[in-house]
Amino acid sequence: MGGPQTPVRELLSLTLELAVPIWLERLRQKDPEIREMLIQYWADKSADAVAYQGDVLQFGGKKGAAASVFNALARGLAVLATCPGGVVFLGVLWCDRHAPYGRSYDGQICQQCLAESSGNDWLSPKDQLTGLRVKCQEIETAATTEGIL
Ligand SMILES: [Zn+2]
Repeated sequence: MGGPQTPVRELLSLTLELAVPIWLERLRQKDPEIREMLIQYWADKSADAVAYQGDVLQFGGKKGAAASVFNALARGLAVLATCPGGVVFLGVLWCDRHAPYGRSYDGQICQQCLAESSGNDWLSPKDQLTGLRVKCQEIETAATTEGIL
């Protein structure tokens, strides 16, 4: 993180702080089997949207495109929040178990998850989530280094 807080970056952060818990709650309301299927589906769709259309968040696009990618990003962050260690994006930690509503954070992984773990096996993210984590990192890096967000 670091970098100056521009209005667009602040708006993205604020809207994600609202949207991610909403998607987490939707996941929570599902039966376990449906929940797992939804996590897989959202992970795949979110990774694609962020990878191939993430620039509309930075540069704009057709009407509705930014909203679509924003929702994909928020769903993707919700999916990552269900993983051990949660996810940190734009200085906010979401962990389904310890920070479902997000909180300002300067670490890289939920320390409560780390404290509760007995080994490092859970630190290996599911293969299908790796791409999404990488893309979220790329967006955050671009937001920080290019000062666009
Ligand atoms: Zn946690």
